[in-house]
Amino acid sequence: MKKKIINKYMKFPTALAAAKGGAALAVEWLVPLLDANGKDDALLLAAADKKRAETVGDSVHLRGLIEFSNYCRKNCHYCGLRKENNKINRYRLSKEEILETALKAEKLGYKTIVLQSGEDLHFSADAMSKIIKELKNKTKLAVTLSLGERDEETYFAWKKAGADRYLLRIETTDPVIFKKIHPDSDLEYRKNCLYVLKKLGYQLGSGVMVGLPGQDALSLAKDIIWLNNLGVEMIGIGPFLPHKETPLKDEKGGTLAQALRLIAVLRLVFPYSHMPATTAMGTIDPMGREKALQAGANVMMPNITPTAVRPLYEIYPNKICLDESADKCFGCVTARIIGLGRTVGTDYGDVVRQIRNPKLEIRNNKDK
Ligand code: SF4
Repeated sequence: MKKKIINKYMKFPTALAAAKGGAALAVEWLVPLLDANGKDDALLLAAADKKRAETVGDSVHLRGLIEFSNYCRKNCHYCGLRKENNKINRYRLSKEEILETALKAEKLGYKTIVLQSGEDLHFSADAMSKIIKELKNKTKLAVTLSLGERDEETYFAWKKAGADRYLLRIETTDPVIFKKIHPDSDLEYRKNCLYVLKKLGYQLGSGVMVGLPGQDALSLAKDIIWLNNLGVEMIGIGPFLPHKETPLKDEKGGTLAQALRLIAVLRLVFPYSHMPATTAMGTIDPMGREKALQAGANVMMPNITPTAVRPLYEIYPNKICLDESADKCFGCVTARIIGLGRTVGTDYGDVVRQIRNPKLEIRNNKDK
């Protein structure tokens, strides 16, 4: 006798109703949304755009991104900055250059800067603390850090120095995929970094890469459930874009459609979170950032790194906005936002704390 195959996943309309109604998170309705196509896809994106308007409103918050070092101790298989890529020239901005860039950003109207680098231990707990303190003394900027995995003492020192927010993407919570793409990272260690950051009181950002080899809608659904348990407040989504100087160079990349669907589902699950329309989406499609803003995103991160070094921060290939000065970039993104009938945020765009029931399991973090 033939076994009856039971599809445990809901039909799309029921799944969308569950998402809109704030149902408890379950793969049964997350998967059909993440797999939506055609008309269903359009309905999902429209629902997310509506939810965004009702919750975080029409403001788009700008975060000025300063990529201050492309040195990295790690060898992530998807990243052009990986240690073993000896085809790129490495650079570090000095403390003075970082401060000068941040001051210019504040003059232009930015309220937040994001200090991002590879995992570069040259910027020790102490060195970074000095930079953060000086930034906080000389400006009114909110400071977001995106410096990878460090130990608890270091995260504590940076928080004490005045850092407000931290971004650390988990990329995937699937242990097999995580191991395949991170030869020198440990999933549990990365998770624990995020628990520690949360415990220390940072406004916390994480996120995933979409379109990774071996990843499917179920794997993404499980990522979403984990992000919810973490109590994440800002969520960054990046499509996987193969870089020719990495071991994943021959893999198929992620698509804008996948990224937009994921943003839309995340907006329905995390109505008040901050979500960027990333440069990577603008790299896949000239209108990619606009499309993301219409699928639930409410943040943009213009690159304000000095143009002399900007092309050297090549995590993924064919990055856009490499030549424009900071003020041109500011004008360009402002025009794009206004073109969508939206407004540029004039406040700090701090997180709205509405997180449901994070489950924290904190161990001691020590730099490996
Ligand atoms: S993803 Fe980050 S940690 Fe990994 S190689 Fe690139 S810069 Fe380094």
